[in-house]
Amino acid sequence: MTTPTHDLIVVGGGPGGYVAAIRAAQLGMKVALIEREHLGGVCLNWGCIPTKALLRSAEVLNLVRSARDYGVTADGVVADLPAMVARSRAVAAKLQAGVRGLLRKHAVEVLEGRGRLAGPQTVAVRAADGRTSERRAPHVILATGARPRVLAGLEPDGQRVWTYREAMTPPALPRSLLIVGAGAIGIEFACFYRSLGAEVTVVEAAERILPVEDHEISALAQQAFERQGMRIHTSTTVLGLERGDDGVAAVLRGAGGERAIRVERVISAVGITANIEDLGLEGTRVELRQGHVVVDDWLQTGEPGIYAIGDLAAAPWLAHKASHEGVICVEHLAGVAHVVPLDALRIPACTYGQPQVASVGLTEHKAQARGLGVRVGRFPFGANGKAIAMGDAHGLVKTVFDATSGELLGAHLIGPEVTELIQGFGLASTLEATEAELMHTVFAHPTLSEAMHESVLQAFGRALHI
Ligand SMILES: Cc1cc2nc3c(=O)[nH]c(=O)nc-3n(C[C@H](O)[C@H](O)[C@H](O)COP(=O)(O)OP(=O)(O)OC[C@H]3O[C@@H](n4cnc5c(N)ncnc54)[C@H](O)[C@@H]3O)c2cc1C
Repeated sequence: MTTPTHDLIVVGGGPGGYVAAIRAAQLGMKVALIEREHLGGVCLNWGCIPTKALLRSAEVLNLVRSARDYGVTADGVVADLPAMVARSRAVAAKLQAGVRGLLRKHAVEVLEGRGRLAGPQTVAVRAADGRTSERRAPHVILATGARPRVLAGLEPDGQRVWTYREAMTPPALPRSLLIVGAGAIGIEFACFYRSLGAEVTVVEAAERILPVEDHEISALAQQAFERQGMRIHTSTTVLGLERGDDGVAAVLRGAGGERAIRVERVISAVGITANIEDLGLEGTRVELRQGHVVVDDWLQTGEPGIYAIGDLAAAPWLAHKASHEGVICVEHLAGVAHVVPLDALRIPACTYGQPQVASVGLTEHKAQARGLGVRVGRFPFGANGKAIAMGDAHGLVKTVFDATSGELLGAHLIGPEVTELIQGFGLASTLEATEAELMHTVFAHPTLSEAMHESVLQAFGRALHI
């Protein structure tokens, strides 16, 4: 029997892999996509989407609880956790089915099983029943994503110590939670569970929460979360956990020494580990660095014809970065003209807590560390009409410009709907808009986006409403 051949084989059906497959099909390629578990990957099934569905439930709960502030009486408000989880799973399932439909529409052949490089231009597919078949293609994109990173002593057990998977499908609301790691994932779970009334303690080894964000934004976020009753310990590590039938005893070490706390459950949110195992990389020229696959601007590994995208490759580990890399990789290997490599400084990052945080480009500190002179603009949502009308007027829009050239270096936002607003700055940065063009842009009134305009104006001493 001859081995079926394709123009491209994609291993992994997450936002990197399925988008690469669709784009390749649009460009006329015959594509096979191999997925071992769920189409849509972590993002649709266990990451971006189901967490946002849960956070939306928390947001509705908070809004209804404050209904009186808006002249609305809503008594007897009850948080129904099983219904929230069911809704989140239904949202994930709907999108997973949507991805299957899109792949069908583009005539991408979906193979269920584990993919593994099995020689030049050959991929072996092992189905759940153990049966193995082979496929051939001149180009193979590895898009196998990542799984939770495990720290010694903090090993998840599915009961007392959860990864994001258990944290997303809790059997009941824990009375108390220790969340280890204050990156986006840790903070989003902290916000969700705090809204539902759990006692939440967050521990972060770095000196501030959301460590990749601008210092000022991290500080404002910490203040906001502490006002909501979260306990946050930065520059603190977990020395050890003792798991018992009724909870977990944790020993924390921070600047003030050691302290012991007891909680019902722990969520480990300490990063990710790329899925590099059992991919057949041994004997190839694919290079690994710190557990991730090394790629060039076109997502090509050291082995000709083998590409790596998404969480399997370099940071930032974000769904939109994975999808964008999939498109760049496919367009480049297909010979499309004028493909532009991904600029890490133009990848927005969002955290969907309450308040939300969003950023793009350099922080003030990073710009200064590069030796750049900066002009900084700040505009508080407390001076924005729409935010006040919405009853959500906490937060800030901070913009960082190159003092010499006027180039927008970065934008850092905290407050209402900033995860939507950030695209405005992303677009400005991609189009290399000048500060003058940003100032001349007409922003609709009343909108939250006027705070973006005012922040730019403020950087140049021209703010109108503060
Ligand atoms: C709780 C949580 C919340 C998140 N929220 C956000 C967010 O709001 N925004 C954002 O941008 N990012 C978010 N992320 C990160 C985002 O989910 C990842 O960056 C994204 O899923 C990476 O896409 P990927 O295609 O590289 O990998 P994945 O989504 O991990 O997909 C890889 C796929 O490959 C499959 N696979 C692995 N090995 C094989 C094999 N050998 N053969 C066949 N199939 C294989 C896996 O089953 C999986 O389906 C979040 C992550 C988590 C955990």
